[in-house]
Amino acid sequence: MAPKRDYARMFDLTGRKAIVTGGSRGIGRALAEALAAHGADVCVVVRSTLPQAEELVAELNAGGGDSFAIQADVADPADVERLAAGVEARWGRADILVNNAGTIYPGDAETYALSDWRATMATNLDGVFLVSQAIGRLMIRQKSGSIINIGSMSGRIVNWPFKHSAYNVSKAAVHMLTKCLATEWAEHNIRVNALAPGYILTELTEEVLRENPDVVNNHWAKSAVQNRIGTVDELAGSVVYLASDAASFTTGEIHTVDGGLTLR
Ligand code: NDP
Repeated sequence: MAPKRDYARMFDLTGRKAIVTGGSRGIGRALAEALAAHGADVCVVVRSTLPQAEELVAELNAGGGDSFAIQADVADPADVERLAAGVEARWGRADILVNNAGTIYPGDAETYALSDWRATMATNLDGVFLVSQAIGRLMIRQKSGSIINIGSMSGRIVNWPFKHSAYNVSKAAVHMLTKCLATEWAEHNIRVNALAPGYILTELTEEVLRENPDVVNNHWAKSAVQNRIGTVDELAGSVVYLASDAASFTTGEIHTVDGGLTLR
């Protein structure tokens, strides 16, 4: 009889080295905290909020641990190389990468500025590719790793009446990039999955709320079959699962956490 798997330890991330981009606030912060709660050390990557990232790192290291913060713009190849060099110098390896950094520039298609289009793609798509490539090289060398790209229900459906086609296109591309990298890097024992959240209340979405206060009750909540929007905490279990050995036979998957929003 085959030896029984140690189910209790399948979600254990003790000693694993994780990089979370955009980890200072919102979804990224919750994901960084969740990975650390399961034993991982976390490199928190931010563009402009280094003090918040350093505060978070102090909390994560309070009971011991080797988490740290790095300032890097994921859209800047030189910054990304510096990030990968920093991770290698500190840890010598990388087990988990969460490509979470993202941005949104809403606007009507007929007047949409090319600069906004390019800024959206630079962070949401180029950033995912560049960081995956740089950290992926470490994973290829060690022959193991799990990459989790934060996609979106906006990569699956047009969330009318909101107009942010660049954002939708960038997230759809992230889903396809996830499948391409999963295929290409399977031979290196690297799993690549995406997490596609529905509406989650964070600073990114608060801006829309300020302009359209009724939007939560009249549109966002009602578009999910569960009739509400989600919280950052409700994404935590999924990222731990995808990062862990519990997901050892899961790759190229677009894992949906949206309260049933994309069902109809
Ligand atoms: P927030 O705006 O609250 O946080 C975004 C984070 O990304 C910040 O930490 C920010 O760092 C970082 N960031 C942005 N651009 C860059 C960059 N070029 N380089 C490095 N870091 C960057 O967003 P959310 O937490 O709401 O969103 C996180 C992810 O989840 C995004 O990819 C988003 O598209 C996705 N998502 C969000 C949903 C939602 O409803 N909130 C739904 C579906 C997907 P800094 O502050 O230092 O610039």
